[in-house]
Amino acid sequence: MGKVLVIGSSNTDMVIKTEKLPAPGETILGGTFLMNPGGKGANQAVAAARLGGNVTFVTKTGNDMFGSEAVQLFEKEGIEAKFISKDDKNPSGVALITVDEYGENSIVVAPGSNGTLSAIDIKDEIFDTDKSDLFLMQLEIPVATVEFVAKKASGNGNRVILNPAPAQYLSDDLLGCIYLITPNETEAEIITGIKVHDVASAEMAAKKLCKKGVKNIIITLGASGAYLFSGAQAKIIPAVPVKAVDTTAAGDVFNGAIAVAISEGMELIDAVAFANKAAAISVTRMGAQASAPYRSEIQP
Ligand code: ADP
Repeated sequence: MGKVLVIGSSNTDMVIKTEKLPAPGETILGGTFLMNPGGKGANQAVAAARLGGNVTFVTKTGNDMFGSEAVQLFEKEGIEAKFISKDDKNPSGVALITVDEYGENSIVVAPGSNGTLSAIDIKDEIFDTDKSDLFLMQLEIPVATVEFVAKKASGNGNRVILNPAPAQYLSDDLLGCIYLITPNETEAEIITGIKVHDVASAEMAAKKLCKKGVKNIIITLGASGAYLFSGAQAKIIPAVPVKAVDTTAAGDVFNGAIAVAISEGMELIDAVAFANKAAAISVTRMGAQASAPYRSEIQP
């Protein structure tokens, strides 16, 4: 089984549940407070570890309580955390979230140290890999860092998975290094300019990415599952029908799961079915990292 090297963000989500969202200038008293670990990088690393992956997580925290607590949690999950760097000037990433009684939310994210994770923080040692090892990245860290890692890793013959979230412009140089890209429908539209709403439009978007050098494309389709476009096939693999309670981080669990499945040598089509199963379990539970399932819940 290959290693899964996740390079990405770590945040602490601070959530207050209250009756209504405050208007500008308004102070609302009451509600309950919760603190949850988050950040797409961390969510995906935790999901991959719980599903049995051999996970190394590279991120950057501030020199503060949030950072050290996050690192302790990664270690508890069995994640290799020795390549995590510290930023002495900027605090750890924080998201301030207010949720009203209807589930409507307003969110402000201060990326903090995630925004300073740069090439010099990426130790040479992480590229000391076997061919079966793969890299998994998202876009909550500077895209220049993602590009640096993607070039070096693909140059060494390792596979690079990019979950392009939150979506932004991606250079042809970067796309040419990607083994697998995993946008959701909105991200696929932002990246390709093609609105994805059915198989035909998913195929058009996938072909556009393929022309730019991406080898395989999976467009996640929420409750409809995921569309896989690779040399061998182009089809929708349906989601597992469940009663969704909270779809936060469904995409993160899907990506963590896909990476583990590929690192174990599964064919892409089987990897998508595996990731659909993992993500479906996660939407039946509240939370981001908290909702990620363990391997024993997926396989008999
Ligand atoms: P994101 O969370 O990034 O917006 P999606 O909404 O496309 O991503 O969801 C990612 C994956 O999670 C889907 O491909 C599917 O496997 C699973 N999923 C999401 N919503 C549901 C749902 N309501 N029922 C079952 N599976 C779901």
